Amino acid sequence: MKDSAQAVIIGGGVVGASVLYHLAKIGWRDVLLIEKSELTSGSTWHAAGGMHTFNGEANISRLQKYTIDLYREIERLSGQSCGLHPNGGLMLAATQGELDSLRLICSRARYLGMETEMVSLTEAQNLNPLIDTSHFIGALWRADGGHCDPAGTTHAYVKAAQQLGAQVERFTRVLSLTPRRDRSWDVLTDKGVIRAGHVVNCAGLWAREVGHMVGIQLPVLAMEHHYLITEDIPELAGREREIVNTTDYSGEIYMRQERRGALIGTYEPHGVVWAPRRTPDDFTMQLLPEDFERLAPYFEVGFRHFPALGRAGIRKAVNGPFTFAPDGNPLVGPVRGVPNYWVACAVMAGFSQGGGIGLVLSRWMAENDPGQDILSMDVARFGAFATPKYTALKVPENYSRRFRLAYPNEELPAARPVRRSPIYERLIAAGAVMGANFGLEHALWFAPEGMARTETPTYRRSEAFPVVRAECLAVRSAVGIYETTNYGKYEITGRGARAWLDRVFASRIPRPGRLALAPMLNAAGRIVGDLSIACLAEDRFLIIGSGFAEEFHLRWFSLADVPADVFVGSAASTLAGVSIAGPRSRELVQRLTDTDLSAGAFRLFQVAETAVGLAPAILTRAGFTGELGYEIWTTPDYFATLYEELRAAGADLGLVHFGGRALSSLRLEKAYGSFNKDFRPDYTPGETGLDRYVDFGKSDFTGRAAALAERTAGARRRFVVMDVADTDVEVVGFESILKDGAAVGYVTSGAYGHCIGKSLAAGYIPAALVREGARFEIDILGEMRTATVRLQPLYDPESVRLRG
Ligand SMILES: Cc1cc2nc3c(=O)[nH]c(=O)nc-3n(C[C@H](O)[C@H](O)[C@H](O)COP(=O)(O)OP(=O)(O)OC[C@H]3O[C@@H](n4cnc5c(N)ncnc54)[C@H](O)[C@@H]3O)c2cc1C
Repeated sequence: MKDSAQAVIIGGGVVGASVLYHLAKIGWRDVLLIEKSELTSGSTWHAAGGMHTFNGEANISRLQKYTIDLYREIERLSGQSCGLHPNGGLMLAATQGELDSLRLICSRARYLGMETEMVSLTEAQNLNPLIDTSHFIGALWRADGGHCDPAGTTHAYVKAAQQLGAQVERFTRVLSLTPRRDRSWDVLTDKGVIRAGHVVNCAGLWAREVGHMVGIQLPVLAMEHHYLITEDIPELAGREREIVNTTDYSGEIYMRQERRGALIGTYEPHGVVWAPRRTPDDFTMQLLPEDFERLAPYFEVGFRHFPALGRAGIRKAVNGPFTFAPDGNPLVGPVRGVPNYWVACAVMAGFSQGGGIGLVLSRWMAENDPGQDILSMDVARFGAFATPKYTALKVPENYSRRFRLAYPNEELPAARPVRRSPIYERLIAAGAVMGANFGLEHALWFAPEGMARTETPTYRRSEAFPVVRAECLAVRSAVGIYETTNYGKYEITGRGARAWLDRVFASRIPRPGRLALAPMLNAAGRIVGDLSIACLAEDRFLIIGSGFAEEFHLRWFSLADVPADVFVGSAASTLAGVSIAGPRSRELVQRLTDTDLSAGAFRLFQVAETAVGLAPAILTRAGFTGELGYEIWTTPDYFATLYEELRAAGADLGLVHFGGRALSSLRLEKAYGSFNKDFRPDYTPGETGLDRYVDFGKSDFTGRAAALAERTAGARRRFVVMDVADTDVEVVGFESILKDGAAVGYVTSGAYGHCIGKSLAAGYIPAALVREGARFEIDILGEMRTATVRLQPLYDPESVRLRG
């Protein structure tokens, strides 16, 4: 065995094999995959091999398409068959909500270049004659996907990698990982030590244990999963083509042809966690005992929906474990505080996602950038809140919902609440309907007295619609209070703070007492953050950003060479805040502070350390509603008092609570984009419009060269807000935007603008097509709607109210 390598990949399942291939392909030839047993011997060997491009997140869909398209390439390079059955897929809907969801997939697929189509139940039955269509009301067909041979595919990756010089050591166990001063690793195996520049945790069922080797607790857990293979089915005899792989949402069943019989699997509601504490070392190429008693009711649903399967005998049953993260997406990327240690684990759909994961991870390792937005797979979407108990509660919830369609207004109940602000109970008492962001409860909307706090999961307008409308109108006409504790908050202090920030952020760094909107770019000039920086003193800054990106941004900061005279810290749990917004907000806040808030004295983006009522506070004149407004930050111990004083002071001014839903509506009326939804690492300053905050005069900041090049060449596409005509449904994201029947862009977020009376869609279209009044079409749940570009915000275009 060699004693050094540029990278050591731990694990020879389909994911490790793909990472090995992609690293070799990108030019890292001195790479070594270490497998403790035979290749595929974790969860890979007994997988059903199903592959598809469907994912609620467009970037993951794209990577899934990449994965499936890649199989021909690795077959060609390796001479090893992947055993491809490119049968395509059918998705069956039994309820209106499921049908809506299929229509949404169709709308999204156009821009992604995927061939999908809503088909009649008769057509569905032609594609799969085993379906009893009486259980369904609609179907979607997609050309891509099918299934492959798990072992063949893994070996094809490995052989293709070996052709490029990569090496594999089988039957070699990694025992421990020791960091060296130069950020390389000593990888101790049962056959000796290897010095590795980088280590990649692709240990699948043992990913948790390989995390422990470097002192981290990855939120990953395995679940048992059953599928059955039937005897030959007479209905399939004599057919020239295999039936189309079929997903039955209401039955929570997937099925496909397996030789002359069928394979049927289920994601049952009360799944069983496997190896909750420690994955056995000696588990290799093993199956688990079947539990038919528990599973029978769920398979019986499948036998009703596909009756021929019920009539055929069972030839083989498989119960095997595989791993999940709490939200079902993989965990990919570098880990904060553990240099040159990478993860690619919790991959529950290795045959749909393995290739894409290898692609982005290899780029990330070689080029310091995954090359595209992969926030939804990034290991940094979880923080300290994802404890083992959280994972143990969330993973079974996710498993049980694997085939349940996620509605945009749905909040999942497991492991809630985890993080609560000091005013949580008070907000609940005020009617708050809560969501969770980075583990922290935050109000979505406030049910008036007498109204149930439950909301029907839907793609359409829910019972919350009129309530959100009332919140929006009250903010615009009087004053509202919104809790901002769930924003990401960071303190940057020290003598070198300003100089460091100047390099890390593309914007101007504000002077003491001022706040600046501050885009942050990666080296390729793409948006990795859209934050605001408040300068409290020459050496003290408070930075506010997106709450879900807390760990992502902390990791970004930690990788940005923080000098010894700069301290970067999270204020996630040490600051709590509220936004007070609306024309009467000045009057309200002035009642509680001696700081002169008159227009001339406390201008937009002014910052003061002051007292608000009894609470020492950081007061900024800022907000996200487009109204006159303030954000007030204090420590958690003062926060309840601050809240109570604000409520008392605002009672006669018409103060109302408003939640995240109202905020989404108010911000789109002002055409403000939001990080995560509208601004992500796929977009540039010119495309997002954030170029107006970039200080091109600075001599050096991350992404400067790329941002300057874009300024010279012009942005290729632009972020716009459109009003959508004649619709009673709002867009939710990733719907295609069409011009003359061709998909030219896609939606990033949407909301009803209650104060302007229009449905709004935000998204990206080619720069050449951007002009006031330009008309496009958006397929919203199967109906083509006209969307008209509005270059000026539809509410208060001159920002008179904001500056008031
Ligand atoms: C019943 C069943 C059906 C499935 N059906 C599908 C499907 O239809 N489609 C689909 O896409 N996915 C399916 N899956 C999921 C799929 O199997 C996984 O997504 C995939 O196998 C994950 O691969 P991996 O490489 O991450 O992990 P693994 O396959 O678990 O590989 C990890 C490897 O790391 C090795 N390793 C661990 N620790 C060490 C160490 N210390 N030293 C050296 N080596 C080590 C292990 O031996 C193992 O070989 C199914 C899973 C099951 C159980």
